[in-house]
Amino acid sequence: MFNVIRSAPAPASLAKNKSWTAPDVIEALRRDFSDKCYICETKDPLSLNVEHFDAHQGDPLKMFDWNNLFFSCGRCNNLKRHLFNNLINCTNHAIDAFRLIKHHPPLTPFSATVIIEPSDDDPKTIETANLIRKVFNEDNTGNKAVTATYLRKRVFRRYAKLVEQMNIYESEDSLPAEKAHSLEKIRNLMSRNQEYSAFLRWAILDSPELLELVKDSMD
Ligand SMILES: [Zn+2]
Repeated sequence: MFNVIRSAPAPASLAKNKSWTAPDVIEALRRDFSDKCYICETKDPLSLNVEHFDAHQGDPLKMFDWNNLFFSCGRCNNLKRHLFNNLINCTNHAIDAFRLIKHHPPLTPFSATVIIEPSDDDPKTIETANLIRKVFNEDNTGNKAVTATYLRKRVFRRYAKLVEQMNIYESEDSLPAEKAHSLEKIRNLMSRNQEYSAFLRWAILDSPELLELVKDSMD
């Protein structure tokens, strides 16, 4: 999960209770959520849609509330449904959603599972970890096109890029310019607007020596 800074003011279409899927709303969500699903962090323009964080159940106050609109992919939205309604709010600047859920990247592209752990025992943290674990580990979800196996391979590809740059930085035969370049690439890969940033950032949080070098990018 990644922290989202929600822009203000609310898009005009919401103020008029006109539409929560109008182009100005979609555009603002795309920008604020870095074009990613807030649950799995996949960038997939064909599947991303507007989700009501707190189910509106016909209540216009919830339907058109800018703070209640999130960007999620069809798969996560389908897995969440009404079953997970006590989740961490990643747009709440008072909490650090990223640090609340520990994401362990898959060790190989064929890993059968990834480990997702809550960092505290708050019910919201536990429920959010349960949902994210399901997203990345359960294939039997009715969605045939995108599976957890496919998602884990995509996460692994990003993680492999990070490892490649770590190896360059760490290698004895790398030139100073190559090392500096690899650190820049690491900063870019760990940016919260990149796909699967939580997995990459947690790998860096677990590496104190590297963290010391790039901690200014751990916003
Ligand atoms: Zn998703």
